Amino acid sequence: MKALLFSDRPLVTAQMSSLLCDYFEIGFMAYSKDYESLKDFGAKEIIVINGEYSPAESLAREIVSYMKEYDYIFIGATVLGREVGAMAAAISGAEMKSEIIEFGIKDGKTTTKRLYYGGKTVLEEESNAKIFTVSQGLKETKKIESSPKKNEIELKTKSSVELGEKIQKATTSTDITKADIIVSIGRGLSKKEDLSIITDFASVMHAELAGSRPICADYHWLEEERQVGLSGKKVNPKLYIAIGISGQIQHIAGMRGSKTVIAINKDKSAPIFSECDYGIVGDLYSIVPKLTKILRG
Ligand SMILES: Cc1cc2nc3c(=O)[nH]c(=O)nc-3n(C[C@H](O)[C@H](O)[C@H](O)COP(=O)(O)OP(=O)(O)OC[C@H]3O[C@@H](n4cnc5c(N)ncnc54)[C@H](O)[C@@H]3O)c2cc1C
Repeated sequence: MKALLFSDRPLVTAQMSSLLCDYFEIGFMAYSKDYESLKDFGAKEIIVINGEYSPAESLAREIVSYMKEYDYIFIGATVLGREVGAMAAAISGAEMKSEIIEFGIKDGKTTTKRLYYGGKTVLEEESNAKIFTVSQGLKETKKIESSPKKNEIELKTKSSVELGEKIQKATTSTDITKADIIVSIGRGLSKKEDLSIITDFASVMHAELAGSRPICADYHWLEEERQVGLSGKKVNPKLYIAIGISGQIQHIAGMRGSKTVIAINKDKSAPIFSECDYGIVGDLYSIVPKLTKILRG
């Protein structure tokens, strides 16, 4: 059986390939700029889209045209990927499962797991789905030599949406999904000026900085790319230090893959303490500078 994988983030394509290569002969659809970085991840064929941007509708129609050749379609659940997946399902009429975190095949049916009720439970499903969007950051990538065939294409379908202007979004050069250590801050921090307490600590910990939704998306004290959670990034570092984060389920959904979790919170009944390996009850304004001082030596 064959599966076609697409993501606008090559890392996500490689992660999906590692998740699925035991089940399928794999093909990738990728932008030409990502071709070189994807050559060693097990694809038998790479369908290279010329250009760097395509509207979701054009991508979805192109992907659907490959459904005769490929049995299953997997799309990375990025902002673009979610749109492409939904459109591909609507155009083809095929059943789709979104944001899967596990995949298998049993008695000819697909078995998948995905987070449910805002990440509170995991839903296991058997289905006849042919299209899946795959949660980001699920699996470490493994290199698999495969000498893929390169098949260059131009997207045929014109979209009803036209690109007017491209405005560069303010981005960081960091990708928190790759970090081994993450220091994450929540609304326990009372003002932006106090962020230096956290950045100093992150620096001595050699950690990436992340935050809860209020810190990233509401107050914009950190870039939105640093938001961890259901509507943010799913991370799986070796160590996740949650400071002044209450531990609502939508946040936990993004950091559940962490190997060890340390929480600092002044409220001993905060839900984060049910999700951590080590908890420190106290005021971050007193604890964090002390930890920084000790670690600096
Ligand atoms: C559809 C949907 C999607 C969402 N997606 C996300 C998401 O992706 N990521 C996300 O994070 N949230 C998300 N949320 C929001 C989520 O429900 C919570 O509102 C949010 O996570 C709370 O952020 P917080 O823990 O920083 O703030 P709060 O819940 O306000 O918690 C602040 C914590 O800091 C502690 N504190 C206060 N002062 C101190 C101090 N001096 N020292 C130590 N501790 C202190 C408090 O005891 C409290 O526990 C989503 C919500 C919805 C409805």
